[in-house]
Amino acid sequence: MSLAYNNHPVFVIDAMLGNIAKKLRLFGFDTKYESNISDDLLIKEVLQQKRILVTKDRQLYHRLKSKGVLVILPSRIDETGILIELLKGCQIKHIDLLPNSLTRCGMCNGSLYTVNKNSVIKEIPYNVFDHIDTAYRCTNCLKVYWNGTHISHINILLEEINYNLKV
Ligand SMILES: [Zn+2]
Repeated sequence: MSLAYNNHPVFVIDAMLGNIAKKLRLFGFDTKYESNISDDLLIKEVLQQKRILVTKDRQLYHRLKSKGVLVILPSRIDETGILIELLKGCQIKHIDLLPNSLTRCGMCNGSLYTVNKNSVIKEIPYNVFDHIDTAYRCTNCLKVYWNGTHISHINILLEEINYNLKV
């Protein structure tokens, strides 16, 4: 386990953990999701890009662990539990609430940039437009995000996670 992981860990998430990948991206972590590549290619990616692998595959876990890299095999099965387990495994103590941490697209891992809400008026529901100041667009898939109920729900989850990271 290298200290280089601590500041800005980057992840690769193995099959069956797609929702975990989405959440990590929304928390601001560079996170790849690989559901359909061979173990050999996945190992190559982990080693070359210095990514932390999160996997449910015990055999793959042991193969990577023997190479001395940080690989996480969650024992919890609930999404919140898995997130707490892997963030603790990376010695992360706190994640800023959104929109502060909102820098990556949950769908594709692309970077987000801030846009004037008037420029995305057609993509924001009519009833939320008046209540927001800023919107965010993905540089890759062009999806638009705004500070609405979805973000409030993620912040409730983040508060629970932050509480558990401290204890
Ligand atoms: Zn995107």
